[in-house]
Amino acid sequence: MKLAKYYLSPGNRSAQLETAGSLGASWVQFGNELLLYTDENQWTGLVGRAAQRTLPLQEYPTTVNRENMYLVVQKGRLFQQEHPEVPVIVDHGRFLLVELDPKQAQQIEVGNLPCFTLRPLEDNQIVFKVSERTDAAAPVASIQNLVNQVSRASLEADLTQLVSYPTRFSTSTHYANAATWAQGRLAAMNYSTQLQSITVNGSTSQNVIADKLGSGMGERDIVLVTAHLDSINHKDGPLAISPGADDNGSGSAGLLQMANVLQNHSSQHDLRFVLFGGEEQGLFGSQQFVAHLSASEQQRIRAVVNMDMIGCLNGPSPSVLLEGAPISQNVMEGLQAAATTYTQLDVQTSLNPYDSDHVPFIQNGIPAVLTIEGADGANDGVHSIRDTIDRINYDLALEILRMNVAFVAISSSG
Ligand SMILES: [Zn+2]
Repeated sequence: MKLAKYYLSPGNRSAQLETAGSLGASWVQFGNELLLYTDENQWTGLVGRAAQRTLPLQEYPTTVNRENMYLVVQKGRLFQQEHPEVPVIVDHGRFLLVELDPKQAQQIEVGNLPCFTLRPLEDNQIVFKVSERTDAAAPVASIQNLVNQVSRASLEADLTQLVSYPTRFSTSTHYANAATWAQGRLAAMNYSTQLQSITVNGSTSQNVIADKLGSGMGERDIVLVTAHLDSINHKDGPLAISPGADDNGSGSAGLLQMANVLQNHSSQHDLRFVLFGGEEQGLFGSQQFVAHLSASEQQRIRAVVNMDMIGCLNGPSPSVLLEGAPISQNVMEGLQAAATTYTQLDVQTSLNPYDSDHVPFIQNGIPAVLTIEGADGANDGVHSIRDTIDRINYDLALEILRMNVAFVAISSSG
């Protein structure tokens, strides 16, 4: 295959996409970057057609066998750190296009901890989109009032507490202490709380659950806010220091912040906040949480907003990736609308749900969306001793929280 990149310019993306799509090459879209590829004998024709339509293509220097093109979705930089030998063709942080022999790909997949996924590239697919900032709807005063209550000071205080545990490895006593502390925080906000016992690779851990009943008469839905409380240090082992400031102190402190802001919000529907254990070992907490839901409870869940890494700024401007599946399209659209009205965030969207606590919900037909710091760039500290609080960008975390608070307040209202 011969490959070429093409950059879509903001404001005119859909027309450019259509033109690029009509060139007769296969394509894959990563935000504003489109990669076109074609057999070598078709190449001259493609270049000629692109020139006619004045699309400036940037040719990739080498050719690649079609069966060697793989899509990687990684946490932080974990795939690249574990496999520096694999050539990267397109690099968008969380999303990569790499060149891999299928046999080598199989070997890599065996015994891999849940740090990345690897799949053969499908033709003509959108890996993630960057949304155009459309005209924002006017803010609603009561929602704006809640959004304004998102507080840097209390977010910082909670995150400082969370990183003070040497580790939050799910089956450690430090984790149990962190869970008890978080439960106490939620109870002090007048939520009814419980610890749900879970099993992680044969040992015990806990989910922390906090509920607030809605004021609606009759049948009520539930809106869930979730984050994983545990941390991990892959390189140095279970007992090693693992501050997990971004992954996922940021989402956990963010959940406490949302609970704090929404404690006096008189919603029609029920609100439930859940901090999961066992995420880093393979989504144990969220899987067991979903498995314990009755069929009627599952049906009552109108939205799940999951936060996993909301605190590292990986590009020039604050951005968020909304990751869901077709079943969560409404939630994604609601979050996007909230971002446009109540924040300055650039929003990226992806329908490739992967490896965080939104996935067990989606697999059970429940509309869940992951909100995570923007996909571009380099977060190379995840799952290591270097995931420290000094790397946190509070402005970004606060913007993502404003979006989530607005969405949850609107979604639970009526
Ligand atoms: Zn995480």
